[in-house]
Amino acid sequence: MHGYDVIVVGAGIIGLSIAYQLVKRKKKVLVLEQGDIASGTSGACDHMILLQSKLPGLPLQMALVSLEMYKAWQEELDENLWFETRGGMILIDKEEHLPLMEEFVERQRAIGLNVSILDKKQIKKKQPFVSDLVIASTFCPDDSQVDPFSVLKALLKAGMNLGLEVRKFSKVIEIKRKSDCWEVRTQDGGEYFSEVLVCAAGVWSREICELIGLSIPIKPKRGQILVTEPTHPIGETDVWDSDYIIAKHVAHLQKDETAKKLGFGFAMSKTHTNNYLIGSTREYVGFDRSTSLEALVVISKRLVELFPVFKNIRIIRSFAGLRPASEDGKYIIGEDPKNPGFFVATGHEGDGIALAPITGMLITQLVCGEETILPIEELSPSRFREVKAEKQSTF
Ligand SMILES: Cc1cc2nc3c(=O)[nH]c(=O)nc-3n(C[C@H](O)[C@H](O)[C@H](O)COP(=O)(O)OP(=O)(O)OC[C@H]3O[C@@H](n4cnc5c(N)ncnc54)[C@H](O)[C@@H]3O)c2cc1C
Repeated sequence: MHGYDVIVVGAGIIGLSIAYQLVKRKKKVLVLEQGDIASGTSGACDHMILLQSKLPGLPLQMALVSLEMYKAWQEELDENLWFETRGGMILIDKEEHLPLMEEFVERQRAIGLNVSILDKKQIKKKQPFVSDLVIASTFCPDDSQVDPFSVLKALLKAGMNLGLEVRKFSKVIEIKRKSDCWEVRTQDGGEYFSEVLVCAAGVWSREICELIGLSIPIKPKRGQILVTEPTHPIGETDVWDSDYIIAKHVAHLQKDETAKKLGFGFAMSKTHTNNYLIGSTREYVGFDRSTSLEALVVISKRLVELFPVFKNIRIIRSFAGLRPASEDGKYIIGEDPKNPGFFVATGHEGDGIALAPITGMLITQLVCGEETILPIEELSPSRFREVKAEKQSTF
C-alpha cells in the first residue's frame, strides 16, 4: 500500500508537466503510465508552439504564457529541449480564404499577438522557393518549436531528481473514492492511495473518467505525417496553408471533398536534425494509428504544389498520432465538482505540446488551492454534466 499527495494518470507531455510542477511545490507525486513514456500522442506528433493557430481568446492567451514558460524551461531543465523560434507563415493560395485569414489575424492582434499579412514580394524574401500560386501569407515571428521527446525526457529527469515516482506499464483499471482519499488499482496488481487524482490520459481520458462516473466527450482525431530525409533549410520559417486553419477550426468550410474527408491542412516544419515534418490530416477513425496511402498521396502532392523544389526529396518514414479532441473543441482542465480532488487535464487536440507548460501550471495552482493565472471556468469538466442536465430537462 502506497500513499501520495497526488497520483497523475498518464506520462504524456501533459501528465509529466503537471507532475514536474507539483513536485517543485513539494508534493509527493506518482505517475502511473499504461505503456512507456511517450507511447501515446506526445510521441507521435509535430513539435510546434504555434501561436498563430490558436483561437483569439483563452487558447491564444494560454499559448502566449506557455511560450514564456518554455523559454524559462530551456534555462531551468538539464536537457536541450531544442527550443527554437523560427517564426511561422500561413500561406494563402485561395482567394476566398484571404478575408477569413485577415479577420483571424485582426482578432489575434487584438489579443496582443505579433502577426501580420505579407504580400507576394515579402513572402518571396522569406520563402524564396514557394510557388507563385501563393497570393498572400500571414507572418508571426514568435512561432516556436521544441522537441517533444526531449521535453518529456527533461521533465522526467528533473521531476525524479525532486522525488517524482513513475510506474511504467501500470494501467489504471479501477478508481474508488474512500472517505479521505482515492484508491487506485492497476492491471499489474498495484494498489495506490492519494489525496488528489489527476487524469492526463489523453485520448484514453474518457475511460479513466468513466471509472468515477464522469462522462467527458473525448474522441481521437488522427493526424498523419511524412518525414523527409535531412536537407538544407529551404526558407526562413515553418509554414502552413490556410486550409490548416480552416480544417482545425471551421472544417465545414473546406470545399475540396477529399481534403474535407481527411480534414487535410498543409503543415511543414523543420526539425533540429534538418528533416522536414510534412502533414497533416484530422480524421475520426477511432483508435486506428495506421497511415493511409490516400492521405500520404494528398500530403505529398500538396508539398510539391507549394514547394516544387521538393519534387525529388526522399520521404524516409510516415506515422500517425491521435489528437485528444473534445466535443465542443475546448480543452478540459479543472476539478470535477461532484468528485472533489479529481482533476482532468485533456482535450488539447492539436495544441498539447504548445500548452503543456501552462496546463501544468493551471492544475498545480488548482491543486494547491490558489487562484489560477488565467480564468479557466469555461474549461471545467463540469460543463458536460450541465449540458446533460439541460438536455434532460427539455424532455
Ligand atoms: C499529427 C499530430 C501533430 C500534432 N502537432 C502538434 C503541434 O505541432 N503542437 C502541439 O502543441 N500539439 C500537437 N499535437 C497535439 C499533441 O501531440 C497532443 O495534444 C499531446 O501530445 C497530448 O498529450 P497528452 O499528454 O494529453 O496525451 P498522451 O501523450 O497520449 O499521454 C497520455 C498517456 O496516458 C496513458 N494512459 C492512458 N490510459 C491509461 C491508463 N488506464 N493507465 C495509465 N496510463 C494511461 C497513455 O499511455 C499515454 O502515454 C499534434 C498531434 C498529432 C496527432
